[in-house]
This record gives sequence, structure tokens and C-alpha cells, in this order.
Amino acid sequence: MSEEKKSAAAALKEKLLVKKESGVRKLDEQEIGRADEFCKGYVRFLDHAKTEREAVSYSIQAAEAAGFTAYDRTRSYQPGDKVYVNNRGKALMLCVIGQEGTKNGVRLGIAHIDSPRLDLKPNPLYESSDLALFKTHYYGGIKKYQWTAVPLALHGVVVLKDGTVKDVYIGDDESEPCFVVTDLLPHLADEQMTQPMRKAFNGEHLNVLIGSRPFNTDEESESVKLNVMNLLFEKYGMTEADFMSADLTMVPAARARDVGFDRSMIGAYGHDDKVCAYPALMAAIDVKAPVQTVITVLTDREEIGSDGSTGMKSTYMADFIADLAQADGMELRHVMAKSTCLSADVNAAFDPTYASAFEANNSSYINCGAVITKYTGSGGKYSTSDASAEYMAKIRKLLDDTNVLWQTGELGKVDGGGGGTIAKFVANLNADVVDLGVPVLSMHAPFEVVSKVDVYETYRALYEFYAAK
Ligand code: MN
Ligand code: MN
Repeated sequence: MSEEKKSAAAALKEKLLVKKESGVRKLDEQEIGRADEFCKGYVRFLDHAKTEREAVSYSIQAAEAAGFTAYDRTRSYQPGDKVYVNNRGKALMLCVIGQEGTKNGVRLGIAHIDSPRLDLKPNPLYESSDLALFKTHYYGGIKKYQWTAVPLALHGVVVLKDGTVKDVYIGDDESEPCFVVTDLLPHLADEQMTQPMRKAFNGEHLNVLIGSRPFNTDEESESVKLNVMNLLFEKYGMTEADFMSADLTMVPAARARDVGFDRSMIGAYGHDDKVCAYPALMAAIDVKAPVQTVITVLTDREEIGSDGSTGMKSTYMADFIADLAQADGMELRHVMAKSTCLSADVNAAFDPTYASAFEANNSSYINCGAVITKYTGSGGKYSTSDASAEYMAKIRKLLDDTNVLWQTGELGKVDGGGGGTIAKFVANLNADVVDLGVPVLSMHAPFEVVSKVDVYETYRALYEFYAAK
């Protein structure tokens, strides 16, 4: 082929085809350095925000330090004012009043702060064969075998009958005891190993070992259980009946750590969706005097379908926007119709070890930046809001104009399974929504993996969305 012909093809290729680009290779040392620096804060967040309650209190502290105050419906606010609304300690809204207020809609960034885990049952404590154990009911979609034989920590609250709230936080520090779900040794697992995974590990196998010493040597029955209860009484002033009024959960005890010789990734529990919640929180803190009012929502219950007062099927966000609208002499419905939203949630990163679960042309990849997911759902686009071409064009232009590293992705191959995000609940309020977030390896495992660059680019995407004119 002549040189002339070759260069004509190259020029046409440049003009017409999507470049299979090299993700992180496009970034310079400084940008990568900024990503590494940003992720130091993210690792701190991860270690202090394993549950939604912890994420809310951590975020309120960070927001207050940045000048946010608790929202007061009876006060009037000026552009640039920063307020927050704490919904039952389990969901949080951070709002920066825009120069136009709500007149031309609001900009929403929404991430969830609940993650899969093992919740204690309301009557969890029992003794069997001189061992004390907790019964659990898993929360969210998990592969049950992954939760056996790994150190667990107990987090949550116990509310005594008189209303006293006792915070429980034990097992993360190496000086503290941890807990564990036992598993059967391979020597005796011949039968278990031949069963399908769903049968080999069922929900009632997820019992947590919490003690083995009797209260004393007398022959009183259940003295191991009694001994554990006595320790809990000494520490938290609780009795067995108080488990009934508790939100207690077993979470992986491991801390977030760098992954890889090059330290390019972070392994941790709960990336889904703290890895979008933290960038959204930081974008809310960093955005100054936006044109439209900006609302960041850190929501609860996403992993179990968004039902309940603190989930996105609740009216709490719309109620808040209605209050802001009223203050501007507007109606909620007129505000929503002009509003735009980035539903900040993770997508599955392409995993070469399980390549057959993915469709390579439409997967997101580690180190290729924030991933835009036009639609989620399953089985023929069922149960998704599917962002419109017009809105996709707007977001695409914004990210390109601000040099954010981004990619598109779909969750696995068609009919391979599927999943949803909160996007559709916001779209159902008559707003434009698309999912944007971080690709994750081993999603929903006790130790998930993300790339530092992707975390930072997701922050940049959210910030630029908030700050856009
Ligand atoms: Mn998620
Ligand atoms: Mn999830």
C-alpha cells in the first residue's frame, strides 16, 4: 500500500471511528499524582464509613467543617449557602444554593451508602454444642461462601427500651476481638463440593461464632450464651430482649489497602457504593456558587430495592426539593421537569478471568475512567429508565469539554443476569438521569477492587457536572 493511501485511511479513521483508547495512558504524572492523593481521603472514609449510619456521621462532620449547616425550612437562603438534611441518621442530603435557585431545575448527584453485609436477626443469640453464635439474615446480593472464614466486625446501634442509643463498633482494631462464620473443612466436604453453590451455602449457614467459654463451672444450661450476654451487658448495658430494637450488622473487619505492586488500586469492603459517595461528598464540598442549586444525596437501602423511609422510593428528596421550590415561588413539578441527575453508582469492571460473563465492546475497564451506564436492568431492558440520547449528548459534551477520563459500559452480557440502580426512581420523578460511577472488580465481595484513577475521575465528573454553567 502506498504511503498516501495509508495516511488517507488513518485520517478517515481519526474522523469516523471511536478510538480504542488507552485510558490511564492519556493522563500525565501530575493527574495520576492527584488521583493518588485524592484516594488517601477516600481510604480514610472507607475505614470510618462501613455502614450507612457511619457514612452519614462522617459526611456531616466533613460538611460542617466546610461550612454546611442543618437546613431550616423557615429560614431564607442566599446563593452560595450550604445546607444539609439528615434523614434518620441513615441518609443525607447536601445542598448548595445556586444563583438561579431552583428556577431552572436542580442538579442532583446521588450515591448510596449501604453495602451488602450480614444483619443480625431480631433474636440472634443462641448456644449450640458449647459454642455461642449469632443468627444472621444477609442484606443485599451476596455469594454466601465469600462471607465464611473471614474476620468480621460488629457495627450498629442498640436502642434500649428507654430510648438510650448505644453505639456498637467492635472488631476492626487488631486489639479487639473479631467474629467469624465457620466453614466446613475440605476433608469432610465431599458432599458439599458436589452441590450447586446456592445449595452448598444457604442463608441459615451464615451463623457467626461469638464465644466459647461458659459463665462459670456450674452446670447451668446455656452458660456460654449467658457469658456472652453478660459481657454485652457490661459493655453496652443491654439484655437479650434489646436485640429486638437494634440495627446490628456484621461487616468485614479488614481495612482498605493498596492493591498491586504499583499501588494503582484499592481493595476494600463497601466500594459499592462508597466509591461514588465519597467523590459526590467531595464535589458537594468543593463546588462554589453553582448556577443551579446542587443537591448531593447519600441514600440508604439501595442494595435491597430502595424501599423504606431512607431509600430512594421514599419521598424525602422530593419533599426537600419542594421546600426549596416553594421558597423560590416555584412548584415541585416544574422544578423536577427541568432537573438533571447523575446517579452515581458502580458498574462491573471487565474481569479477564471471567471474560465470558462480559461483552468486551460494551464493558467498563479498570483505569479507563468514570463509566457512564446508559441503562441497567435485565431481560430486554426491563426495569431501567434508559437515559435519552439528548441527555447522553449533554453529559458526553460536558465530560469531553472538561477533559474528564470516561468510558461507557453495560453490566455484563445480555441475559447474563443484571441489576439496577436508583436511576429509575429519580427518572420516575420526571428528571433526566444517567448512571455514572466507578468500575469495580469482585463487586459485592467482602474485598472489592477499584482503580485510584477511576475514583478521581468520577470525582471530577461529578464536580464538573455541579459546576457547569
Ligand atoms: Mn451500587
Ligand atoms: Mn450493589
